[in-house]
Amino acid sequence: MRALICGAGIAGLTLAWWLRRADWEVTVVERAPGPRPDGYMMDFFGSGYDIAERMGLIDRIVAADAGITALRYTTADGEPRGGVSYASMRAALDGRLVSLMRGDLDRVLREAVPDLDIRYGTSLADADTLTDGSPVDADLVVGADGIHSRVRELTFGPERAFLRPLGYHTASYLLTDPDLADAVGDRFRIVAQPNRQAGLYPAGGHLATMFVHATDAPLTDNPRALLKARFAGMGELVDRALDHCPDDPYYDTVAQIELPSWHRGRTVLIGDAAHAVSLMAGQGASLAMAAAWVLAGELAKADVPRALPAYEARMRPFAEAKQRSGRRAARWMLPESRWKISLRNRLLGVADLPGGPTVVRKAMAGTASSIVG
Ligand SMILES: Cc1cc2nc3c(=O)[nH]c(=O)nc-3n(C[C@H](O)[C@H](O)[C@H](O)COP(=O)(O)OP(=O)(O)OC[C@H]3O[C@@H](n4cnc5c(N)ncnc54)[C@H](O)[C@@H]3O)c2cc1C
Repeated sequence: MRALICGAGIAGLTLAWWLRRADWEVTVVERAPGPRPDGYMMDFFGSGYDIAERMGLIDRIVAADAGITALRYTTADGEPRGGVSYASMRAALDGRLVSLMRGDLDRVLREAVPDLDIRYGTSLADADTLTDGSPVDADLVVGADGIHSRVRELTFGPERAFLRPLGYHTASYLLTDPDLADAVGDRFRIVAQPNRQAGLYPAGGHLATMFVHATDAPLTDNPRALLKARFAGMGELVDRALDHCPDDPYYDTVAQIELPSWHRGRTVLIGDAAHAVSLMAGQGASLAMAAAWVLAGELAKADVPRALPAYEARMRPFAEAKQRSGRRAARWMLPESRWKISLRNRLLGVADLPGGPTVVRKAMAGTASSIVG
């Protein structure tokens, strides 16, 4: 059997690994010109952790942990305003939490299928033809091409019908500044103000930024100017980080994807293309791996026409529950008033108190639940 996977990201590479193990011929097309080392830090737990363990990759993923020791909130003047240690968060998840850069997870997955046929700089021109002119010759076509999926557009129509913006935009970029790196140390430093938040953390010899702000505006074509205007006045660290902003930082709307069906004919969607939960849920990568694992499991049991609805029937309720929890988390991650920020920070700090991890474990039971098992 032959599969064409569009997108060499977390979902696509995980599916490639499982299909190759079941003796499928797999071709992956990836729009980017080569592997994408860039990105942002991700918390990795739940289903993704369990599936990586089954793939024998968890040691390599743990080895890629970014080594961040704590999440620390401050005022613009640098006054501490609470936070939580990663040790407590890890304890709350029974040690099964890794915080790593997206590019590192991507690399570990890619290295796990070393001779995979990945065609970089290539995508789908239409449902039957690749952008290099060759025909799509496959029993199964998989859209694993992320939140702005081309396969979804070709199969189900324009994105606007399926994108559910949550009312925020986010941005990130890497920078190199030794003095700033010293000031940040090994913590994730966040300056939080109502409806806007700027974070800095160490990332493999660089610093990474994470900006989130509340807005219903359309995306800008000048994200650098917008970031400088929107995040000005949030203190020295943030101003200095903004001085390093490149012309084309990652800048996108924070959104979820909702569509009535994830498959049509021989085509199926997995990961963000089907059910993006947004960064607010903190487990999109984990869910992308879950979708790949569930799809591969159904394809091992039945032919394509029967496996695709079975995959959706199993995965959809799980993904929709994570989307609901992502929407609830958004208000918690980016509060709209000072007292809510203060409450959020104090609640987070509970994890560092004696017995705190047990309290957090109970509170996170639904959020951290896994599809494996
Ligand atoms: C700022 C931020 C923070 C996040 N934090 C977390 C977190 O803490 N924990 C977590 O689990 N998740 C987090 N996420 C979400 C997570 O990154 C995604 O949910 C996850 O990467 C989805 O995997 P995917 O394989 O579906 O898509 P992606 O990882 O986006 O991969 C899609 C791939 O398809 C390629 N592609 C795109 N278009 C085409 C095309 N037309 N043709 C061919 N290839 C194409 C892309 O280049 C990419 O390689 C965060 C996301 C953001 C933006």
